[in-house]
Amino acid sequence: MIPYGKHQVDQEDLDAVIDVLENQFLTQGQQVPAFEAALKDYCGAAHAVAVNSGTSALHIACLALGVAEGDLVWTSPNSFVASANCARYCGAQIDFVDIDPITRNLSVEALTQKLAKAKQANRLPKAIVVVHFAGMSCDMRAISALTAPLGIVLIEDASHGLGGRYLNKAIGSCQFSDACVLSFHPVKSITTAEGGTVLTNSASLAEKLRLFASHGITRAADLMDSESEGPWYYQQIALGYNYRLSDLHAALGISQLRRLDSFIAKRRELVQIYCDKLAGLPLVLPMESSDSAWHLFTVELRQHDRAEIFARLQQAGIGVNVHYIPIHLQPYYRQLGFGPGDFPCAEAYYQNALTLPLYPGLSADNQRYVIDTLVSILG
Ligand SMILES: *Cc1c(COP(=O)(O)O)cnc(C)c1O
Repeated sequence: MIPYGKHQVDQEDLDAVIDVLENQFLTQGQQVPAFEAALKDYCGAAHAVAVNSGTSALHIACLALGVAEGDLVWTSPNSFVASANCARYCGAQIDFVDIDPITRNLSVEALTQKLAKAKQANRLPKAIVVVHFAGMSCDMRAISALTAPLGIVLIEDASHGLGGRYLNKAIGSCQFSDACVLSFHPVKSITTAEGGTVLTNSASLAEKLRLFASHGITRAADLMDSESEGPWYYQQIALGYNYRLSDLHAALGISQLRRLDSFIAKRRELVQIYCDKLAGLPLVLPMESSDSAWHLFTVELRQHDRAEIFARLQQAGIGVNVHYIPIHLQPYYRQLGFGPGDFPCAEAYYQNALTLPLYPGLSADNQRYVIDTLVSILG
């Protein structure tokens, strides 16, 4: 089976992990801080806080930015459920902003209209979690121009976006946002097996993020409410979690990050071939982008039944997938009052969406096989 996405691990990755196992601390040693330093350098942000998953990163980003019970958070329905769940973890209500059918990202026009209505109703969101679907950045400049004057917190879910660019800067620079979240799940741009990070340009936010990622415990004298009682002393000053990344995982991340640019270059090459070879078929191809991290290559079928094509490709050994079932149609979110028809563009996109295999290790032969099979089925 050719998978839709796959990590690539080489001997240097293995050596890096083994070196930690044999010679270093397994957790709270030098690897996590070194990984954080490499990530913030790559992305051009002032601070990086590495944690044990992208989902944990979204959770502490919401917490540290003050999302709480009674608040409202908006996100895109065309995403993984974690983009919305993070608000629910904090006791906040969730709502969605429909997507732009071309970019498949949260629509700036829909956002403009929804903000105008929310302002009238005096029910503005505390935060908006934007998602850079498939690795192409949302229009952050336009979005922040809408949200900043209203004091709305802006969080980027860049789980797909590491290695991508926006306006000549790396995704993750936080130029237009309060925080930017990365995921290192094996199908993402680089992997640590499980892992994630919050990037930010705010030192005070980074401090809060570290608290929430590690039990709410601090050893910093300026954060304590009394004198230190000795070198052993620490205080728990908030209710935090154990969301720490281990040094083993961070060592893998450091090694992977060195190859990130080559991974992205390979993804772009493969996308170019798909676009050339599939151009004549009854498919909507993804929008062209030289800045996307190309996490996913997702097409929309124009004339064919998605379930049938999905089954035929799977039978041919091609591990196609679907990104995404709109979050608001999940039973958990339906039970909160959402339902079909609420976000028609995301729903229409979902009906025909199909994700083809795309990852740096996809061989030319295997890609040709995917293309030939699609051509024979759809042509
Ligand atoms: C992968 C992903 C997440 C969650 O990341 P994990 O590291 O798996 O917890 C969140 N949002 C989006 C859009 C994702 O693709």
